[in-house]
Amino acid sequence: MSIEVQSVTKSYETQLALNEISFSASKGEIIGFLGPNGAGKSTMMKILTGFILPTKGTVFISGINVLKNPIEAKAHIGYLPEQNPLYEDMYVKEYLQFQASIFKVPKETIETVVNTVGLKPEVHKKIGQLSKGYQQRVGIAAAIIHNPDVLVLDEPTTGLDPNQIQEIRTLIKELGKDKTILFSTHIMQEVEAVCDRVIIIKKGELLVDKPIKELKKSNEQTIEVTFDYKIEEQFIQMLPNMISFKNNFDNTWYITFDSSEDMRPVIFDFAKENGLKILELNSKNQSLEVFFSELTA
Ligand code: ADP
Repeated sequence: MSIEVQSVTKSYETQLALNEISFSASKGEIIGFLGPNGAGKSTMMKILTGFILPTKGTVFISGINVLKNPIEAKAHIGYLPEQNPLYEDMYVKEYLQFQASIFKVPKETIETVVNTVGLKPEVHKKIGQLSKGYQQRVGIAAAIIHNPDVLVLDEPTTGLDPNQIQEIRTLIKELGKDKTILFSTHIMQEVEAVCDRVIIIKKGELLVDKPIKELKKSNEQTIEVTFDYKIEEQFIQMLPNMISFKNNFDNTWYITFDSSEDMRPVIFDFAKENGLKILELNSKNQSLEVFFSELTA
């Protein structure tokens, strides 16, 4: 396993930031680490990369115990911290040379990394003169300079414009071909666009750890239907493939089905056959975005 997190708990004095988190990732997986602000994402990433210690639990990177052998583990992991702190007065090349020297990487590697992240046209500028998108590339270049197996990116697209977001997503996908990547975001669409798997945390608890494909293939659909007058529950119970229902307002029902068929025409025919009149019928189909916002609300 490239990443192995075992029962990690972290408390900051009285604040419990992570509670018994366990997950693992194998080589070549791109994992979206998702959660609302304050969920514990950055804390988990700092523990993974050996920047802070957990209160309890263990982390292995490429089989190396990060707590016992932090220096050895750091050789296998690249980290782009939140808000990408960079030395703005340094030249791009100078900064990357400095990073390369930390890991005793030969200078020729810099050129390869610069090409990989698409920094070539900007390599002679000062970091402070670069756009936010290019600064992000510098941060990513620094994170991969020692060719780590695992890459941890804390909110790599936050604060970028839509084109830059697209470029960084493409870069993450490209890097994910031969690295295990864990990147945090609070945007579900981002996970959908880039990842193989999603891990969702909220208030330090792990809520979901699933392949994206599995989340997408759910047949669940919820339909909101408003009748022209109050109807009895028995009618709703007669609907085929119905798995649950809720009656929020007098005449409006939220009915969930397990079916690959669009259930709206079925409800319409059913109402007609039973002499019921429908005023409104809406599909509340669960996009992953809705799924995430309901889960973390
Ligand atoms: P996320 O990255 O998901 O926004 P964080 O890991 O930054 O979440 O924070 C998780 C929780 O831990 C939050 O309640 C935050 O306020 C708290 N926290 C984070 N860092 C510290 C710290 N250094 N001292 C005290 N509390 C902290």
